[in-house]
Amino acid sequence: MSRGAIVCVDDERFVLTSLRDRLSSFLSYEYEILLAESASEALEIFAELEEEQIPIPLIICDQIMPGMSGEQLLIEIHSRYPKTRKILLTGQISFKEVIDAVNHADLYRYIPKPWDETDLSLTVREAIRSYFQDCQVIEQNEALREANEALQREIIERMQAQQLLQESEERLESILNSLEEVVWSAKPNPPKLLYLNPAAEKIYGRPIAEFFENIELWLEVVHPEDRDRLAQTPQLLLEKGILNVEYRILRPDGEVRWLSSRRRVIYNAHGVPIRIDGIIRDITQEKLAQERLVYEALHDALTGLSNRNLLMERVENSLQRAKRNPNYLFAVLFIDLDRFKIINDSLGHHVGDRLIISTARRLEELVRTSDTIARLGGDEFVIILDPIHDINDAIRIAERISAQLKQPLNLEGREVFTSASIGIALSSPNYHQAADLLRDADIAMYRAKNKGKSCYEIFNSEMYAQALAQLQLENDLRQALLQNEFRAYYQPIYFAKTGTLIGFEALSRWQHPTRGFISPAEFIPIAEENGLIVQIGEWMLSSVCQQIQYWQKQFSLQAPLKVSVNLSAKQLKDPNFLQKIDRILAKTGLQGCNLQLELTESMLMDDVENLMGILSQLRVRGIHLSIDDFGTGYSSLSYLHRFPVNHLKIDRSFVKGITDNIESLKVTESIVALAHNLNMSAIAEGVETKEQLIQLRLLDCEYVQGYLFSPPIPAPAATNLLARSFPVKTSQNI
Ligand code: C2E
Ligand code: CA
Ligand code: CA
Repeated sequence: MSRGAIVCVDDERFVLTSLRDRLSSFLSYEYEILLAESASEALEIFAELEEEQIPIPLIICDQIMPGMSGEQLLIEIHSRYPKTRKILLTGQISFKEVIDAVNHADLYRYIPKPWDETDLSLTVREAIRSYFQDCQVIEQNEALREANEALQREIIERMQAQQLLQESEERLESILNSLEEVVWSAKPNPPKLLYLNPAAEKIYGRPIAEFFENIELWLEVVHPEDRDRLAQTPQLLLEKGILNVEYRILRPDGEVRWLSSRRRVIYNAHGVPIRIDGIIRDITQEKLAQERLVYEALHDALTGLSNRNLLMERVENSLQRAKRNPNYLFAVLFIDLDRFKIINDSLGHHVGDRLIISTARRLEELVRTSDTIARLGGDEFVIILDPIHDINDAIRIAERISAQLKQPLNLEGREVFTSASIGIALSSPNYHQAADLLRDADIAMYRAKNKGKSCYEIFNSEMYAQALAQLQLENDLRQALLQNEFRAYYQPIYFAKTGTLIGFEALSRWQHPTRGFISPAEFIPIAEENGLIVQIGEWMLSSVCQQIQYWQKQFSLQAPLKVSVNLSAKQLKDPNFLQKIDRILAKTGLQGCNLQLELTESMLMDDVENLMGILSQLRVRGIHLSIDDFGTGYSSLSYLHRFPVNHLKIDRSFVKGITDNIESLKVTESIVALAHNLNMSAIAEGVETKEQLIQLRLLDCEYVQGYLFSPPIPAPAATNLLARSFPVKTSQNI
């Protein structure tokens, strides 16, 4: 195979052929010898050879040729094929041109014509060798360069890999540094800490170095109560391979923190533990939140006292203890504030809340810390006195509570008076459930309340029977409306100066089928509670209006007869109240001016805007309004003048003391003065003696009502009374 081509150029054909013959003779057939008779032909040959990728070690070129000269061709060749060796054949030697050719064409040699055979063959062989040597050097250089580049690439790649590794290490480090969790790694046997991230410093409140110096420190910082348990964990971990544990630590600053730790053992291929990795989380906040939840589930939000749940649990526990030990005695005190509703309604919920809180604090001062105080909601408190020696312990405390709660309280600049009714239930083997004990204490409390407030009662089985009866009463009340068991009684009201009968107060009575007459003081509160009061009130209004209309028609009166009907707060809140009034007036044909409605002070404090609307509407209908039991509530005087009220009814507790108690007299006097100042009149109720009447007259109180004149009487008796005061209408004036 040919190793390459040698191109000979001469415009003289014979020179070319002799040159070829000559070259062939010593180059044997290793090289192809190509002949060109002109420069352009030579360039074409070069182009073709190049295309076929045949190396051209040498060109031998005549100097003088038509067209492009030999030097020019070689310069051209040099610019395109710099490796090819160039030999110039010259006829006459022109030194300058040779120099040019050497300079510009990198001429290898020039050979004068005619050539010396030996010189030619040596020169040609040397040129070819030098060409191939060059090629080899270039190739080697190339290989070297490539190897070098590869090396460089490898170095760069390695550097990049290292960079990546370093970055990832830095990233890991940064993550570990910024973690809130403690991350650690240690070697077992002998134990040695390998790694601990900076979070440890924040959580434990000590420098990390301390943990490296003292391998036992992690256990030493554990809260003394949890330490024994924690000391077992390394052994446990090696047995299980993985371990989660929660415990407390005690920091140098005294703070206690809850931690949650998770540890894992790393084993080698033979199953031998080589490392322990762990992560520790500060769960103090979670624990606190959990504790708070538990606390909230068991405590009253307003006072922080135990709530019903916790109370029941405690009573249950006490009951269990009492069952195991027959000599063991405890008591449950049920405490209810008297008049709380009045205070709450008239002074506002805010003051009501303050009163509840103050009461809670007072109770706390009165019992031992081992006793439980609970608030059941509203103004109801329960105390478990656990244990007590005998009933006298419970009585003593009930008396102390009663006395203490009677002390006036200053709430938001107001002096508030309250008191408490207390029911006491004693533990006994008959009790099986906490709820029963509580129920009985509650029953005893109700008994205390009914007995006159601000006192205590000890539960007995008779009370239970009565409580059952009360329950029965509630059920009967529903029947009463259907069975038409209510009656209206009428108590006359007189003009104080002259003793003229001006009207009545209508008071309801319940004719119970088996129990006879039941006082409204007994059934009205029950009806208020279960809402039946709205229907009872409606029945009263309708029955009374019918009755007045009958009297109006029957008697010849100087002024319209005025009959008062007591209203309940629930009736006023009934959205259909005005419609009901209108319907009753329309049905009976009665004029509004015959009707008078009695409200209590606390009813004026609630939902003032709405109430104002209703009261104005009543006034439009000519209906008069009185404020009942005036002086016992907390009505704000600044409100009073805004309501279209006509009368203040002086509560009978003041009237009762008017002749021998200076306080009562003063209060009565003020109420009358207040009424007059506000363009109202005063009605005294509960007038029982002549002296009281005289005094009331002196005070200028307009109207009087009471047993002195008459108790509430049924309608026929009232008709008789009217008949004695007024002439019956004749058929003409009917
Ligand atoms: P109240 O509105 O203060 O009615 C006056 C109460 O005093 C009546 O008791 C009456 O019998 C009694 N009383 C009258 N004169 C004297 C007296 O000289 N001395 C004494 N100590 N008491 C006297 P009653 O009829 O037992 O009514 C009790 C309460 O029941 C009433 O008090 C009123 O608040 C309520 N009530 C009665 N009937 C109704 C009603 O139809 N609707 C509503 N919402 N409440 C009613
Ligand atoms: Ca009344
Ligand atoms: Ca009254």
